[in-house]
Amino acid sequence: MRPFDPRLLRAVPAARRDAAALALTGGATAVTIVAVAYALARTLAAAAEGRLDGVALAGFVVALVLRAGCTALSGLAAARMAATVKAQLRADLLGAVGERGPGWLAGQRAGELATLTGRGLDALDGYFTGYLPQLVLGATVPAAAVLTLALSDLTSAIIVLVTLPLIPVFGILIGWQTQAATEKQWRRLRHLGGHFLDMVSGLPTLRAFGRAQAQVSAVRAMADQHRVATMKTLRIAFLSALVLELIGTISVALVAVPVGLRLLSGSLTLSTALLVLLLTPEAYAPLRAAGSKFHASMEGLTALDEAFTLLAPSEVSVSVGQAVVAAPSAIVLSGVGVAYERGPALVDVDLTINAGDRIALVGPSGGGKSTLVGLLLGFVRPTAGTVTVDGIDLSELDIEHWRRRLAWVPQRAHLFAATLAENIALGTPGLDRAAIEAAARSAYLGDVIDALPLGLDTPLGERGVGLSSGERQRLALARAYARTDADLILLDEPTARLDGGSEQAVIEATARLVEGRTAIFVAHRPAMLDLATRVIEVVDGRVREKVLS
Ligand code: ADP
Ligand code: MG
Repeated sequence: MRPFDPRLLRAVPAARRDAAALALTGGATAVTIVAVAYALARTLAAAAEGRLDGVALAGFVVALVLRAGCTALSGLAAARMAATVKAQLRADLLGAVGERGPGWLAGQRAGELATLTGRGLDALDGYFTGYLPQLVLGATVPAAAVLTLALSDLTSAIIVLVTLPLIPVFGILIGWQTQAATEKQWRRLRHLGGHFLDMVSGLPTLRAFGRAQAQVSAVRAMADQHRVATMKTLRIAFLSALVLELIGTISVALVAVPVGLRLLSGSLTLSTALLVLLLTPEAYAPLRAAGSKFHASMEGLTALDEAFTLLAPSEVSVSVGQAVVAAPSAIVLSGVGVAYERGPALVDVDLTINAGDRIALVGPSGGGKSTLVGLLLGFVRPTAGTVTVDGIDLSELDIEHWRRRLAWVPQRAHLFAATLAENIALGTPGLDRAAIEAAARSAYLGDVIDALPLGLDTPLGERGVGLSSGERQRLALARAYARTDADLILLDEPTARLDGGSEQAVIEATARLVEGRTAIFVAHRPAMLDLATRVIEVVDGRVREKVLS
């Protein structure tokens, strides 16, 4: 694992300023360290002769204050860099989820992503505030110290120069050992996070099937594996701290012993000897500190690496399109193919959707209907062929602007832990109360709201707990109703899993929703087909227009 990931400054340009500040204070710190040692050596040498060197003493105090100031500034820059990087990466990761749609998230497991964006990126604090400043000092301080030593005592300078590289060399050797262990530790933690979320949200199901206890044992086993992995990295970390301390101490002794002997024989002045003795430990200190802090930041670095890996493909595939279209008059799919990792979902689809068309998609489950809807939403990207809107490729469109033209009722609407009104106004923030109420009534939610004491202000549980599936589906329709300026309505099996009464209500609500607009709906029931002007059958990824009698 590299001590500094160059992708960092590319992904988070705002961090460049802090990185520059860190380098600058690192250089300044090195200068003050040399100044402190020099002034102290002069002061002590004078004191040994019974004199008081006022200039040297004053210089010592000033240099000490400056050194403290530099340390504080570098701490500030490091903390700011950590905050900037974490905020930016979190925003980017969430942006990537929104950009690539639900299919991508399904492949990632929400819980693992939550662990990464939360705890994982937080582990970067140790890296930025502990390791990185020491790494910068590890470059500047030895350089300044060796230079000063070379000017006053060449022999000591050479010994330091020869022994200094031992610390990074051993650090790297041990680092190789740690990398595998830390990656394992992080993987375990991520799985634990993912599994935990999955299990908690599925607890009622697990209870019903008598599997809750088994799952608790499974989580315990996973936590145990994480503990073992953590202990292993800790053991390596302690070992490495020991080795680095040992090398540092021996190196200082290698310099100090000859200096003492030469001082006795009179071939070295006291002031020079003191300077060498004061400066030599300082030369090793930052690298030693960096080495021991490295392990604490490994988890953060592993999470960082994963964040970059997740974000990387988006840099090429996320549409950077700027084009916008007014109300589209024609959407044309030509030769479109979509292949998931498991295999093709759509093959060579040619389809033209004209303004005012109300298209029913029919066909067996797994045929590719939802994939077709996902294409129009920009969630799914064609792996062959093109989707154009009034002649402009969908990937060249400003996707945010395009989605504002759409109203979408998914197969399984996601409701949030907010009030009914807030859930309805999801796609139209700032919608006034009367419009929300109207949308709810249009979606046949009126009776439901009237029966609730808090009405539209009734809070829902997480994922909309507290509503039946028919009510949830109607709430999803109300969301679509609330987007009065949408001109393309996409519905994915709005009547699936509904009983007769709910189904009738949803179909009637749908009929009024699609009235006079362009609509594509995945239809299960014959009653839905009556709303359509065209019926298209999707079987095994191929489309075929059905002739309406
Ligand atoms: P339908 O909506 O007609 O039931 P879908 O479009 O959902 O069909 O699925 C078409 C095929 O693509 C199915 O074989 C399904 O297993 C597969 N599929 C759908 N979504 C994904 C996905 N996110 N990743 C991998 N395969 C998928
Ligand atoms: Mg489907």
